[in-house]
Amino acid sequence: MSTTSNQGPVAFIGLGNMGGPMAANLVAAGRQVTGFDVGQEACDKARAAGVDVKGSAAEAVQGAAAVVTMLPNGALLLGVYDEVLPAAAPGTLFVDCSTVAVSDARTAADLAVAAGHRAADAPVSGGVGGAEAGTLTFMLGCDDALVEEATALLDPMAGRVVHCGASGAGQAAKICNNMVLGASMIAISEAFVLGEKLGLTHQAFFDVASTASGQCWALTTNCPVPGPVPTSPANRDWRPGFAGALMAKDLGLARRAVEESGTDAAVGTLAEELYRRFADEGGAGLDFSAIVNTIRERSAAAAE
Ligand code: NAD
Repeated sequence: MSTTSNQGPVAFIGLGNMGGPMAANLVAAGRQVTGFDVGQEACDKARAAGVDVKGSAAEAVQGAAAVVTMLPNGALLLGVYDEVLPAAAPGTLFVDCSTVAVSDARTAADLAVAAGHRAADAPVSGGVGGAEAGTLTFMLGCDDALVEEATALLDPMAGRVVHCGASGAGQAAKICNNMVLGASMIAISEAFVLGEKLGLTHQAFFDVASTASGQCWALTTNCPVPGPVPTSPANRDWRPGFAGALMAKDLGLARRAVEESGTDAAVGTLAEELYRRFADEGGAGLDFSAIVNTIRERSAAAAE
């Protein structure tokens, strides 16, 4: 195994809801972690968790063997890379864990390589709970030669690391999966509301579909109506879970990839429109399964 980035300090840029606990898990695993965030609260929490918080991103990467980023979007990621690539030691391993467009992930990796570094994309699933527990699934996009080293770096934060292919493949896997998730949640929610109108109880539909061809995660784990799956967010007033704003963001990235690649994805494109409207009209802070209520309300209005 290469030890280049797995012995020296790690710089962590973006210490928010996800990055904060991820950096804390690196510290808990015995790594020396420097960090930076533009937000004071994030910096204070990270400092309390043992991160050596610096005054700028460029300062944080000095002397680091690896740089992990966990930022809100691709534009911010590319801005941070502009600042830190010249400041890092040659050959530093850059791993971006943010969810960004496939094209932005490839641009970021190309910039890092052009500056003499090595780069991977590694978006995650598992949410804040997974970040805190160190059980995130990382979808890794990088050359074969980097897999072992990147996996060892991510290990203290991970339940699983899946190498999905070359640069950008991690982001591709993430948005393809979430396009299925958004579309399947809408389909399941429409079926519950149609069932209501036809006099079918939620439990009866669940009992049949959960063991029939309609079976999917949106039904059996994140069931959008209260009752059939007691642990689903619907049973706690649709508190997330996975927030509508994040689903709208991920479907927006999927739509961009659909358009850039010329894919005929009518259902994925419509799911993006429905989730964008859901987020804009009050669903941003609710679990994405609350779209069932929007569908019910619109169905009632259409019936008047
Ligand atoms: P967040 O807003 O809590 O954290 C992002 C942090 O980046 C903030 O603390 C912000 O101050 C900081 N930041 C912004 N610009 C910066 C800059 N120029 N330099 C340094 N720091 C900067 O968001 P989050 O929930 O931690 O999500 C981070 C990424 O993870 C996003 O791309 C998101 O889509 C993805 N993600 C989130 C979840 C989730 O459940 N929250 C799950 C999977 C993936």
